[in-house]
Amino acid sequence: MDDVNPATAEVFAQIPLSNQDDLKAAINSANKAFPMWSKMSVEKRANYLMKISSLIKENLDQLAQAESQDTGKPLQLARVVDIPRASANMEFFAHAITQFSSESHSGKNSINYTLRRPVGLVACISPWNLPLYLFTWKIAPALAAGNCVIAKPSEITPYTAYLFSRLCIEAGLPKGVLNILHGQGPEIGNTIVESENIKAVSFTGGTTTGRRIAEISAPLFRKVSLELGGKNPALVFADCDLDKAVEGLVRASFTNQGEICLCASRIYIEKSIYEQFKGKFVDKVKALKVGAPDEQSSNMGALVSAQHLDKVRRYIAIAKEEGGRLLCGEEPIELEEKYKHGYFLRPHVFENLPNTCTTNQEEIFGPLVSLNVFQGEEEALLLANDSEYGLASSIWTKDLSKANRIADQIETGIVWINCWMNRDLRTPFGGMKNSGLGREGGLEALRFFTEPKNVCIEY
Ligand code: NDP
Repeated sequence: MDDVNPATAEVFAQIPLSNQDDLKAAINSANKAFPMWSKMSVEKRANYLMKISSLIKENLDQLAQAESQDTGKPLQLARVVDIPRASANMEFFAHAITQFSSESHSGKNSINYTLRRPVGLVACISPWNLPLYLFTWKIAPALAAGNCVIAKPSEITPYTAYLFSRLCIEAGLPKGVLNILHGQGPEIGNTIVESENIKAVSFTGGTTTGRRIAEISAPLFRKVSLELGGKNPALVFADCDLDKAVEGLVRASFTNQGEICLCASRIYIEKSIYEQFKGKFVDKVKALKVGAPDEQSSNMGALVSAQHLDKVRRYIAIAKEEGGRLLCGEEPIELEEKYKHGYFLRPHVFENLPNTCTTNQEEIFGPLVSLNVFQGEEEALLLANDSEYGLASSIWTKDLSKANRIADQIETGIVWINCWMNRDLRTPFGGMKNSGLGREGGLEALRFFTEPKNVCIEY
């Protein structure tokens, strides 16, 4: 199928549509490789991951270019965030597996120790917004723990997954250890998930797809890790460092065109500073440059596809119907001829929307945020928690006692205080409510990709 550059709307590559036979071949080859890979010493496995990590670094330019071309994101963002993080994922889990240990419990006249064996054949399915970054975030711990992997990138952004497969071959990764299948989610993605040979599924994507994967997996008693959608609140208190909050929240709202599951989408501001915050925030948003992804000065590039652009535009129309007042977003975008048909959209900021409305409840996953008012800590918390999602939140205040009280009660798996997207790969990463099940990162990921087996010795 065609692979489209969203900045130009032109087809630049074609990708295979894998089918049932490709999956059979992948399962066969993974099964052949599993005894060797799972028994290999952790040091040797870690060396392969380190080699792949180095090759990603060596090929930074090509990979960043490919990621930008495939997603429409600014090249600079791919250079400093996406690709370095993909390399860091491989390196992090190469180190982590050599430090991974299991528990031992000594009793009155017995001792128990827990073995942690690789699960077997596992599936890693990732979305289009941070393609190589999220693809490797799953593959690295799965491989490090000794599993063989069937992986599927999003058909919308498959290019860096393909380049990554070539780097894995160059690194000498044994055949069958990692099998990448390209194609459409509802076709090959679904076929992978339905296969009884797959013993665990690590999935990042939309809540509807996640629910379907959970339904298929439940009767198979298979492990699932589901990183799903979000509708992330940000709470801005009157006692915050206002300039820092404004700057942090412009970044939180519109980095990667707002196409990050962690992006802030509902900003709640304490009444006494609402107008002040709004003025500074809107000025900064208006100054963001939406433009050619390869231009250093562009803060935002194109949305990922025509379909996604339509979706975000539908939400803009809904926000207006719901009584939202548009504060910015409809200014023209200056683009050179080559980008005239690209899927560009200016960042949109709305106010005057009730908390219960569609704009404030549904995940949009694009450059649209709402500004809302609250009075006092209690109302801030009520509004933040009034959502079916629970992925990430941010709290902006100089009062750390208050921040910690809220962090304790806010219903999100990740809480940032006076910052956003400050990531430490050792920490548990994931959401609650409809934002998912399970946690990725550090030991959580290595536990997910291993099966504990307890051994008891009586003496
Ligand atoms: P989708 O759920 O549509 O797709 C995610 C992945 O699943 C893609 O590889 C897709 O393939 C595949 N897929 C689709 N249908 C099926 C199926 N029936 N069985 C198996 N696999 C399938 O999500 P999007 O790609 O649209 O990604 C955006 C979503 O991802 C947003 O909701 C966002 O919040 C969420 N997300 C969550 C993150 C988190 O960490 N919590 C991080 C990043 C994104 P294909 O694209 O080829 O159809």
